[in-house]
Formats: sequence, C-alpha cells, structure tokens
Amino acid sequence: MSPKTVNGAIWRDQLTHEERSVLGRADEGVDGSTPDVLVVGGGILGVSTAAACAEAGLGDVLLIETGRLGAGATGGATGLLIPEPHQWSDPEPFVDLERAGLERWRDLEQSIPGGVGLVELDWLGLAPHEGGYAAHQPRGVVWLNPGQVQERIPGLARPMEGALIHRQARVNPLRAVARMAAGLRAVATGVAATSVEISGDRVTKVGSSAGDISPGAVVFATGRPPVLDGLPLHIPSDRVKGHLLVTDPTDVSLPGIVAPLATQIENGQLLAGGTFDLGDESPAVQPDVIDAIVDGLAAVLPSLRGISVAYQWCCFRPRHPDRRPVIDRVPGITNAWLTSGHFRTGILNAPVTAAVLSRWIAAGVPPVEAHAWSATRFATH
Ligand SMILES: Cc1cc2nc3c(=O)[nH]c(=O)nc-3n(C[C@H](O)[C@H](O)[C@H](O)COP(=O)(O)OP(=O)(O)OC[C@H]3O[C@@H](n4cnc5c(N)ncnc54)[C@H](O)[C@@H]3O)c2cc1C
Repeated sequence: MSPKTVNGAIWRDQLTHEERSVLGRADEGVDGSTPDVLVVGGGILGVSTAAACAEAGLGDVLLIETGRLGAGATGGATGLLIPEPHQWSDPEPFVDLERAGLERWRDLEQSIPGGVGLVELDWLGLAPHEGGYAAHQPRGVVWLNPGQVQERIPGLARPMEGALIHRQARVNPLRAVARMAAGLRAVATGVAATSVEISGDRVTKVGSSAGDISPGAVVFATGRPPVLDGLPLHIPSDRVKGHLLVTDPTDVSLPGIVAPLATQIENGQLLAGGTFDLGDESPAVQPDVIDAIVDGLAAVLPSLRGISVAYQWCCFRPRHPDRRPVIDRVPGITNAWLTSGHFRTGILNAPVTAAVLSRWIAAGVPPVEAHAWSATRFATH
C-alpha cells in the first residue's frame, strides 16, 4: 500500500476552489422562511430535484442539508452512468428509467453553465459467458473475440471475449452537485430537518436545526426515507457498504470503463472497486477489502501487480428490499414527496427522478414514469 494513500474519495480533490465552496454554501434566512418548494437532503437526488424545480418555474426553492452537499452516498459513488450494461441485470422499466437518466445528464451538460462535467466513454465487459452476458443479446452491444479484446487491452492475463457498448458516461459526482447547486437561489448546509407538522392532508411546517420553515411543497431526498418527528412514514430500507480505490497514475491505457477491472480517469489513474460488503456496518475502510481489489486488478492485468493506491474509501448505498427506488408523494399528504433507496444507480437516475418530481409538483398529478416506484408497494396486506 502506498504510504501516501489518502483515506477519502478523490472527487473533492478534483474540484476547483469555487466548486468546493459551493458544497458548503450556508445561505441565511432559513428560520421563518416560506419557500414554494423545500428540498431536504443535499445529495445528488436533492440537488437535482431543487435544480429541476427551479428550472420548472416552481417559485422560490430552498435546499437544506445537514452536512455539506454530497456528504452522503453521493460523494463516495463511482459516478458511472451506464444504463446499457444493466440490461443483463435489471428489469426493462428500470433500464428505461436509467436510459432516460443518461439522456437527462446529457441535457444538463448542455444547459447548466459550464456543464456538469459529463465524460462520455465506452464500456467493455470482459469474458461474457453462458448464463451471463451471452445469454441475452441486447441492443447496442458489439461482441469482441479475444483477439479484438487484446488489441484494446494488451497484456491481459488470459484471452477473454468482450462485450463493447459505446457512449456510456461518468461524472465526478461532487462536481455535478457543485455545478447544479451553484445555480440555486437558496442553499443552507449544516441545517437538519428534525420534525414535521401536518394539518389535515398538508405539511404546514418543517422544523429544522435553524428554525421553522413553512413550505408550499416539500421533497424529502435523504438517501434512506426520512425519520422525522411527526412524519408517519414506514418504508423498509437498509444500506449496503461499498469500497472503492483510485491508483497512482499508470501507463496502462484502458478503453473507458472495463468491467469488472477498472475505469480510467484523469491522469492515467484507475478507479476500481464498488464492492458489495453485505453486513459490514462499520464506517471504516477495511484494508483486506482494498487489498482484494488490488489483487483483482493484477489477476486480470499482471502489469498492475504492485500498483500503489492513491485514494481509498467506502460509502453506503441506500436500499429498499426490492433494490428499486421510491419516487412518490408521501402517502396521505398532498404537498410532500419523497425519493429514496436509489441503491447503486442514484447518480445515474437523479436527473430523471428530479424531472418526474418537478413535473408532479407542478401539475399535481403523477407522471406515468412514477407508477412503478410507489412508496406503498412494500405494505403488507
Ligand atoms: C461504492 C458505491 C458506488 C456507487 N457507484 C455508483 C455509480 O457508479 N453510479 C450510480 O448511479 N450510483 C452509484 N452509487 C449509488 C449512489 O451513490 C446513490 O444511489 C446516490 O448517491 C444516492 O443519492 P441520495 O441523494 O439519495 O443520497 P445521499 O447522497 O446519501 O444524500 C442524502 C443527503 O441527505 C442528507 N440528510 C439526511 N437526513 C437529513 C435531514 N434530516 N435533514 C437534512 N439533510 C438530511 C444527508 O446528509 C445526505 O447528504 C454508488 C454507491 C456506492 C456506495
């Protein structure tokens, strides 16, 4: 392990001074405020939703976040935007949502001043096998024989076939958060929502650590469903830890995202990992998991043996039992919405989720895309 290894994600170190300061925006005037829309939670879902509401002309939008923007799962994510490989693992309606997610990211890259830092790149899955990739022949996949794979990735430990998908993408999730949040009128970090007052079927007040807020509408985007005094919400969820690392710069040149090996990012560095550490609730990085990721790199590409680790970190994916998100109005309440449990595709699906929510708030009726992601689907009968 490199003696210089940083414990923490690389994303913050890639930001400019201005982008970093946006993540800590602490605008005043929370107490007694009456925003048209209050968004609770400053991860990618909350920031995207606040931006979409502002863009949709829903009036004054206030975003509150208990820590800094992106402090939760968002700041530790890999940041891959890869709907097409999920054809092998996810049901069609979910892949449709993901495809719409990537399209929205492309729109944001054009519409947000300076873009959101979208990097378009190819995805190459190694060694498709019977019962795996090769069992389905999804659209947009170019099948590569071992020689064609070897041309793209010289030095593999053994000949492997490959599945190539063009035009997937990635972002630095904190840069995307900072770029979107820079355009918001009111952002208060260091402010936690603590309670809710309900009158009839409406939220009339949200209590926070900085005072009371009386919003016209409120969206909870707190990763897992919010637990707040006065809010009757019982949606099952848990969280799944994952480890990631970024190597020191290498001479290895990868053709984009190579699964399950690594993604080449800036300066020739490799981003690897994304483990599913079920049952590990510790917030600490586990050295043996990092070692296993490094060993896995060398097993596929022997020239990476002994590569040193520049950054190592872990974070938790919010998850519902069926591994799909909730995008819904809070049951029984007419002016409160929530989105939660985005698990392993929250970065990808954030802008499309935000668009669905902002359209729902504007029109008062649920867009068709929302039907599959209800908050009540877990209710026991
Ligand atoms: C290892 C790993 C790799 C991943 N890779 C990818 C990937 O490649 N692509 C992808 O699409 N997704 C990926 N994900 C998933 C993605 O990170 C999450 O789905 C997404 O970040 C969830 O965003 P969120 O805004 O819902 O939650 P969070 O980012 O957790 O944000 C919720 C925010 O709400 C705040 N909050 C909570 N309660 C309150 C309160 N009461 N008051 C105020 N604020 C509050 C929290 O502080 C937090 O900042 C990955 C996740 C992990 C762990």
